[in-house]
Amino acid sequence: MLLIRCPYCEEERPELEFRNAGEAHIARPTDIASISDEDFEKFFFIRSNPKGLVFERWRHVHGCARFFNAARDTVSDKFLLTYKAGEPKPDASTLHAEGGPAAWANRPPDQLNEKPKAKRSTKGEA
Ligand SMILES: [Zn+2]
Repeated sequence: MLLIRCPYCEEERPELEFRNAGEAHIARPTDIASISDEDFEKFFFIRSNPKGLVFERWRHVHGCARFFNAARDTVSDKFLLTYKAGEPKPDASTLHAEGGPAAWANRPPDQLNEKPKAKRSTKGEA
């Protein structure tokens, strides 16, 4: 089971208690009524969606109910860091997991989508 650390509760809890709330650190335009339809579309719909390191908003829905941010590797699905909403976006070079962001960028293409192979049980098979 994937455990996610809530920075407010200060404990790791099962992922079932949390909900993803999209990309973090999206700045809302200061005068949204005056921007063009194209700029509104970019603000509202367009997200970076990179492979590897992402910064996301999460909500501890079945806990304290608060929003927080997380740095997560979309390839390994590992949470590298969680931090309270309003705190600055961490410098990606300070995050270290499996060699850090440089290792993600340099990962061979054949390992990018590698997932653990499920063990198949032979019990019950005819
Ligand atoms: Zn919490």
